[in-house]
Amino acid sequence: GVALNIPDKQVDSVCPYCGVGCQLTYNVKDNKILYVEGRQGPANLGRLCVKGRYGFDYAHHPHRLTKPLIRREGAAKSGDFTMDPDRVLEVFREASWEEALELAGGKLAQIRDQHGGAALAGFGSAKGSNEEAYLFQKLVRTGFRTNNVDHCTRLCHASSVSALLEGIGSGAVSNPVMDVTRAEVIVIIGANPTVNHPVAATWIKNAVKTGAKLIVMDPRRSELARHAHRFLQFKPDTDVALLNAMMHVIVTEKLVDEAFIASRTIGYAELQANVADYSPEAMAPICGIDAETIRYVARLYATSQGSMILWGMGVSQHVHGTDNARCLIALSLMTGQIGRPGTGLHPLRGQNNVQGASDAGLIPMMLPDYQRVDNPAARARFEQAWGATLDPKPGLTVVEIMDAIDAGQVRGMYIMGENPAMSDPDANHARAALAVLEHLVVQDIFLTETAYLADVILPASAFPEKTGTFTNTDRLVQLGRQAIDPPGEAKQDLWIIQQMANRLGLPWNYGHVSEVFDEMRRTMASIGGITWERLERNGAVVYPCMNEGDVGQPVVFTELFPREGGRARFVPADIIPADERPDGEYPMVLITGRQLEHWHTGSMTRRATVLDAIEPDPVALVHPLDMERMGIRPGEAITIASRRGEVVLYARADDSSPVGAIFVPFCYYEAAINRLTNAALDPFGKIPEFKYCAIKVTPGGEV
Ligand code: SF4
Repeated sequence: GVALNIPDKQVDSVCPYCGVGCQLTYNVKDNKILYVEGRQGPANLGRLCVKGRYGFDYAHHPHRLTKPLIRREGAAKSGDFTMDPDRVLEVFREASWEEALELAGGKLAQIRDQHGGAALAGFGSAKGSNEEAYLFQKLVRTGFRTNNVDHCTRLCHASSVSALLEGIGSGAVSNPVMDVTRAEVIVIIGANPTVNHPVAATWIKNAVKTGAKLIVMDPRRSELARHAHRFLQFKPDTDVALLNAMMHVIVTEKLVDEAFIASRTIGYAELQANVADYSPEAMAPICGIDAETIRYVARLYATSQGSMILWGMGVSQHVHGTDNARCLIALSLMTGQIGRPGTGLHPLRGQNNVQGASDAGLIPMMLPDYQRVDNPAARARFEQAWGATLDPKPGLTVVEIMDAIDAGQVRGMYIMGENPAMSDPDANHARAALAVLEHLVVQDIFLTETAYLADVILPASAFPEKTGTFTNTDRLVQLGRQAIDPPGEAKQDLWIIQQMANRLGLPWNYGHVSEVFDEMRRTMASIGGITWERLERNGAVVYPCMNEGDVGQPVVFTELFPREGGRARFVPADIIPADERPDGEYPMVLITGRQLEHWHTGSMTRRATVLDAIEPDPVALVHPLDMERMGIRPGEAITIASRRGEVVLYARADDSSPVGAIFVPFCYYEAAINRLTNAALDPFGKIPEFKYCAIKVTPGGEV
């Protein structure tokens, strides 16, 4: 018994959770992960957070899907999900791979042939590898013959990316997280890195210790606010008012970088004219920050040797998410705080591979490397590379696909590793839409809330069961290596995608995953210089890396922006209110988000023993003054309702949100808060407004 915990194998890989991309080592014995250790990766230098260190045994959970499943004839599709595995076989029957694939792919092919490619859609996953994302979008584009392919980037940074592509020509970060240690001023807005990018938060705290001034701007007081030089707790939904007021100060006090504006940008005159109306005095009552503080912070940001902005979902998940990001971009451009180490713009990417999945073309308007599908030259290149004719029409986005199902336009879907029944806004509607699909194929490792609505379920592989590349928030392409084998008859995702492709008439026969990566390299200039051998040797290479031998560029836009004429563009923004404001009937505000121990819809972390033990129950964070007013004590059940649904959770006293606003994590299937959220979209990024809707709260209810 003494030798029980001595690993027989150590496998170097990366963390499967957030975009920080910490490198780790799996310590394995008898096909079981015993424990995980941090490694000297460029983003983590040995550090790991609680999720990376303890969130691994989900892979061994008894709920793992180990056989293909086919819905029993007559089994009604219900949105009321149960996690009870004993009930699975009431709804589904086990099948052979051959039978399941024939049905899964055959029915999709039939719908395509009868109704055209636009009657199909696919959701890939930001949890899959680059190679999986690439093959999945290629399958949808050449097998389904539509651009209806999207993934959870739509729910995360789609608005940031649309502002970045418009303003500076690239949706990725300009500087790596680690650059905070070289910045004089660090602005964190609408992000809670301690919870969502924990190792990144440690670098920020280290930077503060060595003298950097941290400015935290957020309607919620995050843990990082304790380390801040200034904390601006602005009113929810007033980002543009606050940021325009800062720009007003910078313009009127002549703190702009005139040389930078003249040589590297266009559109400054319009921006300048627009912010003239946004004096700090006029904006103070709107955003709740006094004029003097706005002035102080604006001056500090503009005049430091290096100021860096990092942001998250608090900026992006609004109907004005694109406008919020436009303001951040304009701030950096007008002050020349971009294009050097210790400056720049960093939208903190959520999922471990949301950057890579987007790069690989898992989005409806872009082919790999952000080549627009409606650009004939780009399309022609991929038509030649893939030997197929491509649809010139941009596809539908996540929420649009749900609406298209309602309208009878989309009839069949293939969903790989995404869980829209939990993650989509107005989830009751999303579930109802998924339930009316003629044919839904779900590929996943657990019976997720989405898989519960499927016609065919294909049991897939967990992160440590496969090899592939993953691109972190810093544009770092890293190698995840297989440490264990999938359980039972579960298969690797790359194999499943290919089997599906074959059934849709595509004669694919990729062998090793590196063959897929090689094809990506040939079609994507940004990673053209990264070879598989180099990844195996170094474990990580940053892009842009156009030619073999290039070292890669951690800091970009040093001389040119990847736009016409090499210049960035200012885009002014005005105040647009949230889609659904509180009123007499629904007087409070709901803010949704994540918590430290759980990841997104919880399908992995709630099945990780340690993480589930720390946060086992669905909670709502309620301000103590609101609790007192409503006569609720900590730990008691409350019912939260919006116009779209209601859920019951346990109230937890927490004064980090403002009075009148309640924060709820979206990871709890038994209290799926997205049943309440609003599906109103930002018009540019098509991102839903997860950070703001009107609710009412009543004591009591049954969890
Ligand atoms: Fe994993 Fe992110 Fe934690 Fe690093 S910070 S260990 S990548 S969850």
